[in-house]
Amino acid sequence: MSKLKIAIQKKGRLSEKTLLLLQECNIRYPNGGDILKSESSNFPIELLFLRDDDISKYVAANLADIGIIGENVYREAKQEVDLIEYLGFASCRLSLAIPRHFEYKGLSFFQNKKIATSYPNILENFLYKRGITASIEFISGSVEIAPSIGLADAICDIVSSGSTLMANGLKEVEKIIDSQAVLIANPRLSIKKKKTLDELTFRIKAVLKAKENKYILLNAPNDKIKDIIKILPGMKSPTLLPLANKNWSSLHSVIQEDQFWKIIDELKQAGAEGILVAPIEKMIF
Ligand code: ATP
Ligand code: MG
Repeated sequence: MSKLKIAIQKKGRLSEKTLLLLQECNIRYPNGGDILKSESSNFPIELLFLRDDDISKYVAANLADIGIIGENVYREAKQEVDLIEYLGFASCRLSLAIPRHFEYKGLSFFQNKKIATSYPNILENFLYKRGITASIEFISGSVEIAPSIGLADAICDIVSSGSTLMANGLKEVEKIIDSQAVLIANPRLSIKKKKTLDELTFRIKAVLKAKENKYILLNAPNDKIKDIIKILPGMKSPTLLPLANKNWSSLHSVIQEDQFWKIIDELKQAGAEGILVAPIEKMIF
């Protein structure tokens, strides 16, 4: 395996979760203060800490081999890089928003209007496909302020809870894309580097899979076990262990977290008791 250079955000909404993901993949590295480069002590990888705007450019230019950025930035940058994996954090959406007091009846609202955004390429493409002509005003930050200072009629920006829009007297009216953090790679990695990337994505997949799933343990009378197994959508087949009371068994399985909340009542009604749900650290198939 050959050493990979990974470009990650130095400071911002992606940084903490990116570093956590690498740690969960058991990649150790010195990290402290203002360092801009760090080499792992137990995995062939070197970390480069950059502004997120520059990451896809670095990866496309072969200055870094892979990188982690928001899908929104990846799509905007239009660089020649491959999207390798969706990472499940930094979820948000890119949306159009207008001043709250305007009535909104549809996209024609934007015809001949001025829209401020840091995402001119995505916005232009979105409007073009829908036959809307609007003037796009590029600004690199604090986009929400544009309508109130008379710079634009509307904005196109990242939204997660919507509270920033609300605080600026705006309302979200159209979603353009959903976004989450993604792993990108240079499309022309050497075979040796590709091997390291495969090892890394294998670990990432195991970590992500584990996050979606929980380990569930429950006790039930033996005559109820059949019904309970039917409720559990689990892996291939749940583990059954006898309990000291020989009419009872303990059942162990893996369940998707969102499924769990749906079936918890059914499980109880079917006779399950002492239900324990535990996090899983890694899941390998
Ligand atoms: P940099 O200084 O590196 O250029 P930035 O200010 O451009 O950072 P951040 O605000 O740190 O960027 O956001 C980085 C990425 O995190 C965004 O591109 C987006 O994918 C995601 N993101 C932005 N806002 C939110 C949010 N409110 N909730 C979740 N994810 C978000
Ligand atoms: Mg940025």
